[in-house]
Amino acid sequence: MPELPEVEALRRRIEGGALHRTIEAVELGNDTAHVDLPDPDARASLTGGQFTKTRRHGKYLFAGAASGPWMALHMGMAGSVRLYDADDAAPDYARLIVRFEGDRRMAFRDPRKFGWVKVVDDPDTEIAAHDLGPDALDIDEATFVDRIGSSRGAVKSALMAQEKLAGIGNLWADETLYQTGVHPTAKGTDLSERTLSDLYTASRRTLTSVCDVDADYGELPDAWLIHRRETDRACSRCDGQIQTAKVGGRTSYFCAGHQPPP
Ligand SMILES: [Zn+2]
Repeated sequence: MPELPEVEALRRRIEGGALHRTIEAVELGNDTAHVDLPDPDARASLTGGQFTKTRRHGKYLFAGAASGPWMALHMGMAGSVRLYDADDAAPDYARLIVRFEGDRRMAFRDPRKFGWVKVVDDPDTEIAAHDLGPDALDIDEATFVDRIGSSRGAVKSALMAQEKLAGIGNLWADETLYQTGVHPTAKGTDLSERTLSDLYTASRRTLTSVCDVDADYGELPDAWLIHRRETDRACSRCDGQIQTAKVGGRTSYFCAGHQPPP
């Protein structure tokens, strides 16, 4: 599931190849039943305008003009954005296609159909409507420590609670906990200030590093959990082995050695 760094890579893709081009049409792609997409009026409201800005908040992506309207996108389980030229075939699973003047096209791809696109006047209103906390790369340490440290539930669930901080999902919550040596089911209220501060630092380092390589996981350090998400794999930090547990309905990977159970 695309999280903050994966969505940031898509934002950069749009920034690099879809700005300042007049929109000729916004058209439905293939097999759009049960995909939440803008209606004809909303699609028409983008026609004739240009995307001049992009914005990302947590896992939410926006492309629009300062005075609106904006296209708001959420990738769900497996969505993405692909830029291509008219000579090339539209990518598989293209659910919505923005046709710019000239050859450039932008497709919203979504094989799993859990993503959505809508047209909004203003990103801030949309962010507020989803009750999102600060972006995980914008949140300050005091707010992070307070929000995670006051959580009576599993720390992993707290890291993934988008109303506390927006952008962290299953993969990067696991990585942050692995790098900090905290078990995913530890309670927020049981963590020391020092550990909470370490979690803050690790979450930022993790997300920033993945953003830096445009979410190309092969470019991430060998020692990371991302490369060993398999039961009984050797840990890179101690002589323990990787185990799994269900936390908040999601499978968590962690090391039984340096992430001891609470
Ligand atoms: Zn270990």
